[in-house]
Amino acid sequence: MLAFLVARPLIAILLAAVVGGVIWFSTRSTTTPVTHRQERVALTEAQQMQLGNQQYAKTLRENRARIVSSGAGYQQVQRVAKRIETQASRDKPKFIWRVTLIRKNEANAYCLPGGKIVVYTGILPITRNDAALATVLGHEVAHATAEHSAERIAREQLTQVATAIIAGGVAFTPSQYVRVVALLGAGGAAAGLHFSRDQESEADHIGLIYMARAGYDPHQAVAFWKRMLRASKGKEPPEFASDHPSDAHRIEQIEKWLPEAEKARAASRKSSVS
Ligand SMILES: [Zn+2]
Repeated sequence: MLAFLVARPLIAILLAAVVGGVIWFSTRSTTTPVTHRQERVALTEAQQMQLGNQQYAKTLRENRARIVSSGAGYQQVQRVAKRIETQASRDKPKFIWRVTLIRKNEANAYCLPGGKIVVYTGILPITRNDAALATVLGHEVAHATAEHSAERIAREQLTQVATAIIAGGVAFTPSQYVRVVALLGAGGAAAGLHFSRDQESEADHIGLIYMARAGYDPHQAVAFWKRMLRASKGKEPPEFASDHPSDAHRIEQIEKWLPEAEKARAASRKSSVS
C-alpha cells in the first residue's frame, strides 16, 4: 500500500484530503469554558448526553446494592454537587446533572458526558470538607463542560463508532466499544482510560474557577491536593490524578490560578448580594 502511494503522490494527496475532509465534517468547533480554547469535538451535545446516560444507567444497574441514598456522606455529596452544577449549567444549559454516591473503597469520582456524576465513598475521607469535595466535583464536571470525551473521540476518529453505539447498532468491534466507553471517563484510571495531560490540567483550571464561583475557598483546593498526594503514594492514581505531569506540578499550577479564582469568588459573592 505504501509503495503504491509513494509511486502515486497525487493519489496519496487526494486520499489524505478525503480522510481529512471526513474528519473535518464529522466534527465541529467549540470553545472551552474559562480557558476559552478552540477545540474540535465529535458528537452534538444531545448525542453526548445519550452516550453518558447509557453508561450511567449501566453503572447504576451494576451497582444497585452499593448506591448510598441517605446519611451524612450522601447529604454532603448532594449539597456540594448542587452548587457546582449551578455553575456548570451556565456553560452547558442543556445538560441534565445528577450525582450518585456509590459505596466503594476507592478514592475516585467521575462525570460522564452530559452531566451524570458518580462519586465513590472512598474519596470522602480525603476530601473531608465541602470545599475539597467541590474541588473534585469541579474538576470532574469540567471534563464534561469542556467536552473532553467528545474531543478524544474526534481525535481518535471514533465518531462513527460512538454514533453507532448511541443508535444501539452493531457497526463496531468489541475493542472499539471498549475504547469509546473508556473515553467517557467511566470507571476512572482502573478502566485504562486517560484524558490527555492538557485536558487534565484544563479540568483543574476550570474546576477551580467553578468551585470558587460556587462560593468555596479556592485555597482549600491546594490543601486537598496535598492530602491527595500523601494518600495516593504508591497506589494507582484515581481518574483526576491520572496522567498528570506530577502532583507537585499540579499544585504549583493551581497556586498560579488562585488570584483568578479569588476574583471569581468575590464577583459571585457580589452578584448574589445584589
Ligand atoms: Zn480528570
